[in-house]
Amino acid sequence: MDFRDLIAVRRDGRTHTAEELDALAQAAAKGTVPDYQLAAWLMAAFLNPLDEEQTANLTIAMADSGKRIDLSGLPKPWVDKHSTGGVGDKTTLVLLPLLSACGLTMVKLSGRGLGIAGGTIDKLASFDGLRLDLSPDEAREIAGRIGLSLSGASPALAPADKVLYALRDATATVESISLIASSILSKKIAGGAETVVMDVKTGSGAYMQTFPESHELAQWLVRIGERCGLRVRAAITDMDQPLGSAVGNTIEVEEARSLLRGDELAPPVARFRALCLDLARLTLSAVGSSVDPEAVLESGAAWDRFRDWISAQGGDPEQKFEDAPVRMTVKAERAGILARLDARTVGEAVVDLGGGRQHKEDTIDLRVGVMVRKNVGDSVAEGDVIADVLAADEESGRAAVTDILKGIVIADSAEPRPALIEVIGGSV
Ligand code: URA
Repeated sequence: MDFRDLIAVRRDGRTHTAEELDALAQAAAKGTVPDYQLAAWLMAAFLNPLDEEQTANLTIAMADSGKRIDLSGLPKPWVDKHSTGGVGDKTTLVLLPLLSACGLTMVKLSGRGLGIAGGTIDKLASFDGLRLDLSPDEAREIAGRIGLSLSGASPALAPADKVLYALRDATATVESISLIASSILSKKIAGGAETVVMDVKTGSGAYMQTFPESHELAQWLVRIGERCGLRVRAAITDMDQPLGSAVGNTIEVEEARSLLRGDELAPPVARFRALCLDLARLTLSAVGSSVDPEAVLESGAAWDRFRDWISAQGGDPEQKFEDAPVRMTVKAERAGILARLDARTVGEAVVDLGGGRQHKEDTIDLRVGVMVRKNVGDSVAEGDVIADVLAADEESGRAAVTDILKGIVIADSAEPRPALIEVIGGSV
């Protein structure tokens, strides 16, 4: 096939056949087409978006550009979850063991963080010796033994997406709903799950900052997933304020552990716990299970499963993490109601503290971060602590305090914001 014909179809807004999209994904994965032709096709696809049927065909073609993990033999249902990423989003660390303890088989592939969106792989790197580079066979074997496993995305899965995503990043063509949906879903299909719950974040700290954009992406993910034979449910969840209290790496793992252990929780962590339970209910109802996740959480079974999981992947689940050397406070400058605690501002402050990456090759300081102490809608007295900054040194700590204050608004009135905004394709 002459690749110029594929570019012309897209340029003219005509309809690609499934064979054409398969040829495109194979050529991208095998490197048999030059980047400039792929980039031209991507820009044409950005300007003349694929419709749903073509998007579904591209999704399957990208999933089939590499290996698919075969989960056969493992107890059903096979479930995965995906978050579009946000600030303080440690949901995977709670949902995986919780849903596994509810009887679901969870095989999860996760990524590293970039920019303000933290990555589960970085958070879990807090555990010395924890293996996050499982081969597909090892991921399957551990999930068979204890009900779940988590690993970094393997280059063998959906390799066409890796090539296309890097080119999208370099050609300002990331923000296309059909390209985003096919990119996310191709990796889920290759991962072997049959049911996927999508947590689509919305707000200043999210990839999609407005509700209409997030809603459209959530609808596309559900519809394209279903066309590809997956059962997909989506939740649109708030990312205008950080999720939970901890934003960082070791401190997020610590927060997930205290939630799973059943410790008493500060208000932001209680809000995060409510979201985890809503997402668990959405997932369980999608697979027809009537198990009550709150009862499972309270029984300690999810905490036991977390310990089994970390041990199975080579870590010590009770490991004590090193504290950041410097702690400073962000205090309310007046009395009133906390009306804004901007997620993006907090996320950027954590990156500047060294807890996230500006560039793919940056190393991160796992100890640093921010502990948020209040929810939007809480009343505060002048001088109340709104957040703690955990820093490597005084200078970066002071800079973070100054930056976080810029994202805080205290007003005479403000409503609390629920973490779960809307569910698409199911119920909680
Ligand atoms: N995440 C992905 O995996 N792909 C996209 O295109 C956007 C976000």
